[in-house]
Amino acid sequence: MTGPRAKTCATCGRVIAAHAVYYRFSLVLEGEQDLLDPSDDLEGNPAEALEALIRRLDEGSADPGEMEAQVHWERSGVICSECRAVAMRMLNTATADSEPH
Ligand SMILES: [Zn+2]
Repeated sequence: MTGPRAKTCATCGRVIAAHAVYYRFSLVLEGEQDLLDPSDDLEGNPAEALEALIRRLDEGSADPGEMEAQVHWERSGVICSECRAVAMRMLNTATADSEPH
C-alpha cells in the first residue's frame, strides 16, 4: 500500500476527500418468516426449505439474482456525511418525533 486511496460514497458516488469525515457501514438484509406452512413436506432438507422460502419471497420475479437478494442481501462500504444524515432519517422515521434529551 502506498497511501490512502480515494474513497467514494456508496450512496451518492461523490469522492470523499482524504481529510473529510466519512462513515463506514455494513448492512445485512435477511429474509425471514416466522410461520412456516406445516403442510410443506420438507423431510428435514434445508436446501428444499430454502428453495420454498425463495419461491414464496419471489412471487413474480424471474431473476435468480433478485431471488437470492431477497433471502440474503449484504452491502458494506463508506458514505459521506450528507448521506449519513439521509440514511439515519430513513431508518429512524418511527422515532423521529421523540426528541433526544
Ligand atoms: Zn454521499
